[in-house]
Amino acid sequence: MEFKDLKKQYMFLKKEIDCAINSVISETNFISGRQVKELEDELAEYVGTRFCIGCANGTDALKLALMAWDIGAGDAVFVPDFTFFASGEVVSMLGATPVFVDVEETTYNIDCKKLEASIEKILEGDQLCPKVILAVDLFGQPADFGEIRRLAAKYNLKILEDGAQGFGGAMNGKPACSLGDISTTSFFPAKPLGCYGDGGAVFLNDEEAEKLIRSYQNHGKGNNKYDNVRIGMNSRLDTIQAAILLAKFEEFKKSELDKINEFAGVYDAGLEGIVGIPYMKEKFYSSWAQYTIRLKDRSEREGLRKYLAERNIPSMIYYPKPMHRQLAFQNSALYCKEEDYKVTNKLCDTVLSLPLHPYMEEDDLKKVINAVREYKQRTV
Ligand SMILES: *Cc1c(COP(=O)(O)O)cnc(C)c1O
Repeated sequence: MEFKDLKKQYMFLKKEIDCAINSVISETNFISGRQVKELEDELAEYVGTRFCIGCANGTDALKLALMAWDIGAGDAVFVPDFTFFASGEVVSMLGATPVFVDVEETTYNIDCKKLEASIEKILEGDQLCPKVILAVDLFGQPADFGEIRRLAAKYNLKILEDGAQGFGGAMNGKPACSLGDISTTSFFPAKPLGCYGDGGAVFLNDEEAEKLIRSYQNHGKGNNKYDNVRIGMNSRLDTIQAAILLAKFEEFKKSELDKINEFAGVYDAGLEGIVGIPYMKEKFYSSWAQYTIRLKDRSEREGLRKYLAERNIPSMIYYPKPMHRQLAFQNSALYCKEEDYKVTNKLCDTVLSLPLHPYMEEDDLKKVINAVREYKQRTV
């Protein structure tokens, strides 16, 4: 059993994907070919933003958004403590300070009460200027952008939605990756919509910011490629990756998103009352980047992980270490205390993600459920 079975997906879509790759090679339009524009148009229409800009990966997508807002030294960006490193990394990379905020014990997304307290504290401290709320759609469920928007308006902050795991999800029927002032995603192979290498995208409605990002991602180009008006980077989405994504996006819409939600429901039914199962807020829809359960403590989790491994069932720990404890973020430690992160600290010790992808067999789902149930029966 695979954790994410990309091979099975490829075998299912082989004809379309091979054809897509071959068309790029025979047209030899490797950089900024027509497929990039086609994909951008399709994805913008799907999430409902005016613009979509393909770029080299999800980390660059976040960075480009912050660059468009001129975020740098002295600025505070509020980031959930329970996330992938890149969400905070881009902030530090630009010289700004990530201020980590604890998450909700239910959804694992940023806790808006603690977020407000943190904003107030930074304002009182008078050292950093609060600029951006960077909210992550962790494991596929959008953060609570209703409440986040209220806080952003109250404190005059921008909202950056890190939808690297959220593409395909929704809040009140509004698609993930349209919920921030700028939103981003990643096409890393294991993400809900993945390509065959690195890729990412930025989504937004603001035309000024769109122009800036298109410039920043192309060496700060002005009127043309050899007119450079600002220091930028090289961060384009490869045409081959765009072509693969166009082929995969069809199936994503047609069946994959539905299937993965159906399978998550099978897990829920089989595991409810046995272990902690994912909590979905009302009117929220997930793209299930991960199906993550919770155990009592670290030793119960280690035991289960081993028990599953012995039965050839892969599992993963997302994430074993809170951001505020990463050595790379030691400068941020000035602005927070260990006791501010009770929930994240606990999650890092107790979460476990199970195999889940749209090509999973019913038998494999049953096998995982039975193994978890057996393990729990043995250890009570
Ligand atoms: C994967 C991921 C990223 C980074 O995406 P890359 O394409 O790997 O650069 C950023 N944020 C979150 C929450 C992610 O899961």
